Amino acid sequence: MKGNSMRANVLIIEDEPAIAELVAVHLKHAGMHPISAPDAAAATSLIAEVLPDAIVLDWMLPGMSGMQFMRELKAGDRTRVVPVVMLTARAAEQHKVDGLEAGADDYVTKPFLPKELVARIRALLRRHAPQLTDDVVTVGGLTLNPTTCRVFVKEKGVDAPVQLGPTEFRLLHFLMTHPERVHSRAQILDRVWGDHVFIEERTIDVHVKRLRAALKLVEYDGIIETVRGCGYRLTALSVPRRLEDAA
Ligand code: CA
Repeated sequence: MKGNSMRANVLIIEDEPAIAELVAVHLKHAGMHPISAPDAAAATSLIAEVLPDAIVLDWMLPGMSGMQFMRELKAGDRTRVVPVVMLTARAAEQHKVDGLEAGADDYVTKPFLPKELVARIRALLRRHAPQLTDDVVTVGGLTLNPTTCRVFVKEKGVDAPVQLGPTEFRLLHFLMTHPERVHSRAQILDRVWGDHVFIEERTIDVHVKRLRAALKLVEYDGIIETVRGCGYRLTALSVPRRLEDAA
């Protein structure tokens, strides 16, 4: 989680400050950005502002239980995409089954090894939010390397670079790691900006325009499609055929 990639926001919902702090320290050490909430109500207001990339959720919470809150998260259009790790002292097999059936993506029982918890969160992020990892991604001849912050297309065996600003880079990274799907402007704000309240949706159009202008220099502007009334889609189907022609 280095380079130009975003730091993963991980929301810790835990009423025991010592445990919340322990988890937060290990997440920070792993290059992630922890945010803590002592109960479901506090978590709800945090999520309303910034959609986290993953959630660590304690089962036994004052007020709404972690289990109930997870059902709410998994029923919400905006929140159901966020992976949840249940963290609880309830080690009984039936509780694990209940948690997983209610939609938990993983389950860790107290006492736990913080390193194991971090490893599990990493694995979930790799699956759910590949734009937060440093894996090199290639779509239809266009390659993005998060570690070197470079984007290029192979042209007759030579790498033709694409020069991008940091926001366009993150936007392209997100779209390339989630190709062939339409993303609404609100979803892009949540996933790329991490914020859907304080930034106007029109801001995205400005950055898409800049991104296309940069890609046009290598004739790849067509890779990003505008889907009317829906949003944007990155598709390998519309990339230039000339690469194959030349081969
Ligand atoms: Ca608790």
